Amino acid sequence: MTSHALPIEFIHRFKAWQVVDYAEDQPLFEQLVDEGQFPSAMVISCCDSRMQITDMLAEAPGDIFVHRNIANFVPHHDDSADNHGTAAALEYAVTALKVKHIIIVGHSKCGGVAGCQSLCGDKDTALDPKTSFVARWVSLMRPAFEALQGTDKEGDLTALEQQAVMVSLSNLMSFPFIQDAVESGALALHGLWHDIRAGALHLYDNEQGAFIAL
Ligand SMILES: [Zn+2]
Repeated sequence: MTSHALPIEFIHRFKAWQVVDYAEDQPLFEQLVDEGQFPSAMVISCCDSRMQITDMLAEAPGDIFVHRNIANFVPHHDDSADNHGTAAALEYAVTALKVKHIIIVGHSKCGGVAGCQSLCGDKDTALDPKTSFVARWVSLMRPAFEALQGTDKEGDLTALEQQAVMVSLSNLMSFPFIQDAVESGALALHGLWHDIRAGALHLYDNEQGAFIAL
């Protein structure tokens, strides 16, 4: 039998949010419910509890459409694969909400990317693709791992976190509705990497081929 007792701290925080944050934004919430949401951007972030993604990038409710998964990864378009959660969020954001930007946000000390590094590097790891959803998911980042093999960035977790963002940006273009929107000028794609310790954001610069601190 599972317990249905929500820890009391969550109830306290909700009550505090209701009397302060909700009260402050109540007219906005009512407007968003009546008129619908029109976010300007979709943000893809890691599930990591240290990522304060809406605090960093949204000014108000309704600003950003957020999808979170392990290691903020976008798999390559594949009709036959089971990676539908992320693909469904992309399709809705681009074709229904018509967001103008997709922003992929990687981060430092990413456990999902570290798992990919161990698995693809044949290091001793508890991740078994036969039994683990995490293992199968992080295996999809293998092209990022392989891109660093034989370079001076081999084994560098930060480099792999950033390379995985670049692979995700490339994979976004494998979705026909994203390619069409980008080529018509209706949609722009962006890659960021967040240094949690320093509180810094680095933006991928296509021309320099590097992540530059904002
Ligand atoms: Zn992560």
